[in-house]
Amino acid sequence: MSTTVNALLREDLRDFGGYRSARSEALSGSVWLNANESAWANPSDPGATLRRYPSPQPQGLRERLAQLYRVAPAQLLIGRGSDEGIDLLVRAFCAPGRGRIVIAPPVFGMYAVCARLHGAEVVEVPLRDSEAGLCADLAAMGDAALESGASLLFLCSPGNPSGELLPLDAIAALARHLRGRCLVVVDEAYGEYADVPSATTLLTDHDNIAVLRTLSKAHALAAARVGCVIGNPALIEALRRCQAPYPVPQPVVEAALAALAPEALALTRNRMQAVREARARLADGLRALPAVRRVYPSAGNFLLVRFVDAQDAFNALLAAGVVVRDMRALPQLGDALRISVGTMEECRRVLAVLATLRVEAAA
Ligand SMILES: *Cc1c(COP(=O)(O)O)cnc(C)c1O
Repeated sequence: MSTTVNALLREDLRDFGGYRSARSEALSGSVWLNANESAWANPSDPGATLRRYPSPQPQGLRERLAQLYRVAPAQLLIGRGSDEGIDLLVRAFCAPGRGRIVIAPPVFGMYAVCARLHGAEVVEVPLRDSEAGLCADLAAMGDAALESGASLLFLCSPGNPSGELLPLDAIAALARHLRGRCLVVVDEAYGEYADVPSATTLLTDHDNIAVLRTLSKAHALAAARVGCVIGNPALIEALRRCQAPYPVPQPVVEAALAALAPEALALTRNRMQAVREARARLADGLRALPAVRRVYPSAGNFLLVRFVDAQDAFNALLAAGVVVRDMRALPQLGDALRISVGTMEECRRVLAVLATLRVEAAA
């Protein structure tokens, strides 16, 4: 077993086998009477594709995703969105009521939510605002992990909402520093929009890195709920034992396979390019507006924007039927909104509304 997984997995779960479902027994036969399934299909399901419990990790989809992310199938766990991956990591690596995770707020809320539900402590190392953008201080995060004894450290790259892209060599250095002592989780929910190599390329040299990927954003399947944890096979096996017996519904497998067929993938890649272009135009347009204070550089499909009067901007957009994400409750973001990159037409609408805002001249 990987040194890091061995050292960090919850002690009370080391010999835990998880639920042994009928589907997990390696048996073969032609008459299946071992799972109390109905012998008859539902009348609404003439093809009888839904009658039996699905495979816990459907092999075809697992292989397709592994190919997409350029890893081996044994390095990948399919779950109900990367949200489930986050939850599994916290449950497997934090002792209930005692474990700790390190995050760099303002950041995606699920890391802290899962930790809190599990009674784990959240150690915060705030992002630093500078000329370059809102940036994670990886050295400080590493120190915080070692000082607090945290077993998980969450990085988000591209960052939500910061838009920041973390250099792979910095992630590798952090993982090296924490080897055997802390698992570095790199959430790449927006990886496709960045067009740079994934942290999965670091897995060969670092057994304490896990990467989260999802079909929710670039692949436009948010409602299907498909995400992956990618990492050392020992890590994947440990997480699988903590997961629900049948996490991937059969209709979801079919939807995901269709979305990953070569023609669909080619269109998705074109769409990424279109989003990058729209993102650049939206950012330029916003920067030219008097109501806008700052537009952060973004490697995702959204822009984090500071306004002279964020309430005013939010209200004006809403009155025009445009809903954006109010970030003002997050630390350091008291004047910020996050705007997803829509179609060119939707971006133009955002700019047109914000151009009408009156800004008091400085006295
Ligand atoms: C949207 C988002 C996710 C959630 O992904 P699902 O696969 O839909 O659960 C995970 N991480 C970040 C940073 C996100 O913004």
